[in-house]
Amino acid sequence: MPQTILAICAHNDDQIIGAGGTLAKYARQGKRIRTIICSFGESSHPHLHREVIVERRVKESLRADKILGGSGVAYFGLKEGSFPAEFTNNNIKKKLAWLVAKEKPTKIFTHSSDDAHPDHRAVNKIVTELVREKKIPCPVFEFQVWNVIKITHRNNPRLVVDITDTFSTKIRAFGAHTSQKLAFWSLIWNVVFRARIAGLLHGSTYAEVFYKI
Ligand SMILES: [Zn+2]
Repeated sequence: MPQTILAICAHNDDQIIGAGGTLAKYARQGKRIRTIICSFGESSHPHLHREVIVERRVKESLRADKILGGSGVAYFGLKEGSFPAEFTNNNIKKKLAWLVAKEKPTKIFTHSSDDAHPDHRAVNKIVTELVREKKIPCPVFEFQVWNVIKITHRNNPRLVVDITDTFSTKIRAFGAHTSQKLAFWSLIWNVVFRARIAGLLHGSTYAEVFYKI
């Protein structure tokens, strides 16, 4: 049985920005990569009908998952901007615990508690609660999306992954979100810069750094 790696994120490109090089590397090693996305990101295009955006975003995330070598994406379909209430109303904690028990991942990647985006922090909080309640037996690592430098938990154990060989795959997967052109061009420099700095600090060309919850 191949190992399973689980990514839990708020929107459908977060796991690629935060951990895309690592997920692609694990996929190349034969590991099964499963992704859980909390919302469809429909508020990014308020002028379009919800169904149009949902269909487009699902297509894009499946395309991106294929580029990364992933084994599928699952959606909770929650409303953006009100995750804590949505989590309660949709029994998300129980569903996540059930999914973890079913998938038996050896590692989980999710948002950082330092993230500037409230939806990202809400995802971190619910996963952290599950860790504390001992519903998640494997190590959980935080990735960064809307922040450059990790502020808290700096003394927590770190996971550094050399992503030199999969960096271009990460960028291609990120670029597969064609309805998010603006987000792509505003974030891409940050993505490249961060991977390069992490690489310089850890002796490779590109790297991703995660902190253990
Ligand atoms: Zn996001």
